[in-house]
Amino acid sequence: MPKKINVTVWNEEDENPKHQPAYPEGIHNAIAAFLKNDEQIGTLRTATQSQPEHGLTQEVLNDTDVLLWWGHVFHGMVSDEVVERVKQRVLNGMGLLVLHSAHASKIFSSLLGTNTHNLRWRENSERERVWVLEHNHPITAGIGEYIEIPESETYGEHFDIPTPDELIFVSWYSGGDIFRSGCTFKRGLGKIFFFSPGHESFRIYDMPQIQQVIKNAIGWAAPVAYPTLLTQHQKVSPEELYKKANVLE
Ligand code: ZN
Repeated sequence: MPKKINVTVWNEEDENPKHQPAYPEGIHNAIAAFLKNDEQIGTLRTATQSQPEHGLTQEVLNDTDVLLWWGHVFHGMVSDEVVERVKQRVLNGMGLLVLHSAHASKIFSSLLGTNTHNLRWRENSERERVWVLEHNHPITAGIGEYIEIPESETYGEHFDIPTPDELIFVSWYSGGDIFRSGCTFKRGLGKIFFFSPGHESFRIYDMPQIQQVIKNAIGWAAPVAYPTLLTQHQKVSPEELYKKANVLE
């Protein structure tokens, strides 16, 4: 039986109807609710910004295989120390799912190295069609040709990300924009998936197809292992010395 995946769902807020009007229970709790019955998941936690160390202590991260990150208005208040800790854990193999407005989070821009907050947006309750580009990919399994979201926040290009390793979804909006709404990146040993549907004013996380993408992405991003890499920044011996030192031949 494959090892169960330990998942932590992070949100910048607890319950706050002001910033998450469609989710009085808190977006992290709404996401955790549909992950509860996912058999691939072992320990399921939530963590929020108001907790000590934002709920992301080294101990919690060491026991997290995939971290889901939802943030919107308080990115600047996330401690740089915690961001660096999360980043190192990703580089060591932890998976990271970056959801919706978390495109502007410190952790995402730090891992990608570009100004990921830059994109176009409007709140105009437009229809969004999330087109699948990769039909034989673990993240799109069971999704079909596209996901139709009746009302969404519009995101538009140009989105300031490096060219993704894989472009999984592209969204079309009834207002005319398109957007790279599902992208994968590898950084160090870690796998990162950005998925834009999930605006705070519409209950998009209740949609079965959206839930399926997130579950699929958790399975995809989970590390196979956390290998200890022996190679550090080091001077390499010439072959003769190497052979002597290692008593080869
Ligand atoms: Zn939004």
